[in-house]
Amino acid sequence: MYKYNTKGLHKILFSHGRRTETPVFRALRGTGSRPGQSGFAWAVVRRGDPGAEISFPSTENSIVRCKKAAIRQHRLPASTYHGSMNPPLTMQRAQGAATTMPPTLPQPLRLLETSPKPPASADVVVIGGGIIGVFTAYYLAKRGLSVALIEKGRIGAEQSSRNWGWCRQQNRDARELPMATRSLELWDQFAADSGEDTGFKRCGLLYLSDDEAQIAGWAKWREFAITAGVTTHMLSGSEASERGRATGRAWKGGVFSPSDGTADPAKAAPAVAAALIKLGGTVHQNCAARGIEMEGGRLSGVVTEAGTIKTRAAVLAGGAWASSFCNQLDVRFPLATIRQSIVRVSPLAQQLPAALAGPNVAVTRRPDGHYVLAISGRGRADPTPQLLRFAPQFIPMFAKRWRNVFPGGLEGMRWGHETRARWKLDDITPMERARILNPRPDAAGVRETHRRAVKLLPALREARIANTWAGYIDSTPDGVPGIGELPQVPGLILAAGFSGHGFGIGPGAGHLIADIVSGSQPIFDPKPFDPARFNASAWGKVADF
Ligand SMILES: Cc1cc2nc3c(=O)[nH]c(=O)nc-3n(C[C@H](O)[C@H](O)[C@H](O)COP(=O)(O)OP(=O)(O)OC[C@H]3O[C@@H](n4cnc5c(N)ncnc54)[C@H](O)[C@@H]3O)c2cc1C
Repeated sequence: MYKYNTKGLHKILFSHGRRTETPVFRALRGTGSRPGQSGFAWAVVRRGDPGAEISFPSTENSIVRCKKAAIRQHRLPASTYHGSMNPPLTMQRAQGAATTMPPTLPQPLRLLETSPKPPASADVVVIGGGIIGVFTAYYLAKRGLSVALIEKGRIGAEQSSRNWGWCRQQNRDARELPMATRSLELWDQFAADSGEDTGFKRCGLLYLSDDEAQIAGWAKWREFAITAGVTTHMLSGSEASERGRATGRAWKGGVFSPSDGTADPAKAAPAVAAALIKLGGTVHQNCAARGIEMEGGRLSGVVTEAGTIKTRAAVLAGGAWASSFCNQLDVRFPLATIRQSIVRVSPLAQQLPAALAGPNVAVTRRPDGHYVLAISGRGRADPTPQLLRFAPQFIPMFAKRWRNVFPGGLEGMRWGHETRARWKLDDITPMERARILNPRPDAAGVRETHRRAVKLLPALREARIANTWAGYIDSTPDGVPGIGELPQVPGLILAAGFSGHGFGIGPGAGHLIADIVSGSQPIFDPKPFDPARFNASAWGKVADF
């Protein structure tokens, strides 16, 4: 049972996807509510009315839209959200435990029920329940360490459920290839060891092109990849046309990487978190880390909104929030977030390729039969103080990718993940105000993505657009993640900046981070990921996607 406090609310629309058995809206002031019914209900509450309370049994199937609405948190003051599509509504469980969660996400995602109250101490605290945080925590728990995983919103709800799901070695930067190769093995091993379903399968990835320079580039990458033991097949024109027959046209060439695959972003991070719980680790959603405590020049605790966890080691796997968190600790971590949009369409009678990258659009089949459509690298850069601060370091990145990155709007300022402002440890922080980064999809990008996908695969004309969403990609200046202990904060390991390709390498990254924390032999060389490289004045080589 959840309760909304509508104090100060102007207008709100609740829509329920399924019938509810108990009265849905209670004590609702205004017009249009239909107690006990499914369907739509409009409630208009005049400004200045004393707060009305709305209760209903489940939030999972509810869509809440607000216009000109200001929704005030029930108990915690000073947290006001201004209305928009799917705003980060703040709720409280009827039992009184402080918890906030938006009622719906635009993307599908398995929900885990966990307690927001963390333990008083743990061997390791992992901050952030995306794919990197959950795999890190899982591999630490496998070593017998007590692990508390804290997530300000919901497991997997930011980048890790908003991506295409590609797990690839194909076209990987040399620095990341060993991590990619080991990750593919670990995806398989995780399923066998845990019995949890991440949706991972080695379906192979197909790339098609008419551009001879691009085909030559793939051939060159293949020569290098063979030396690393990676199998990938160059396709002649007739082979590419045959493999890509769903496109209904001839191609000059292509490449197929049979050992690569996809996992299901709707299932993967929650599956790993569930496996962590089976191993004795604890998971705490709606629990933001506000900062850290130091003792004797070393990390001694993680301060959360629900109390301090005493620990000697913590991992910051905070994705798009990592740089602003580092800023609180006087650590400079250059990060730029790019807003990328996705279109999801309904299943089709005709089966299309599982994972296909055409010249200017990519199409991926999800295990539930839906397809996700996206344009590789295309996104909006929303100006924020952080973006401006680090802009000089991103010049080589923008020089390489400027054709696909467009100026954005105020979306980044609105969410507050790139604030440079300092926050207090005993007050609500930007992470609690925006439990889940849920930026607006780029309307022009969505239209263009759909147009290109239908052109590539004409059968998609029959598919209905199910929904669209966007995610903020956390990019470093060289497009390679930062993984390693921060010398300024002994005991704190940074693991962020996965630059748009961290989902597939989640298991390998998590294993490496667990190796670093536990002082074990690293599964592969961690040197290329050392965050110290960001302090060097020289620009690093920018990774290809
Ligand atoms: C549109 C799109 C398409 C993509 N496609 C692919 C793809 O096909 N293949 C691929 O490999 N990668 C892809 N990526 C990139 C991939 O999704 C990311 O690199 C990866 O998910 C990053 O995982 P993460 O755990 O570092 O970050 P996230 O998944 O963003 O998780 C970080 C978590 O930390 C939490 N958090 C932050 N600060 C705090 C705090 N202070 N306290 C508590 N919790 C906190 C956040 O709430 C969040 O849940 C794509 C990304 C996008 C947006």
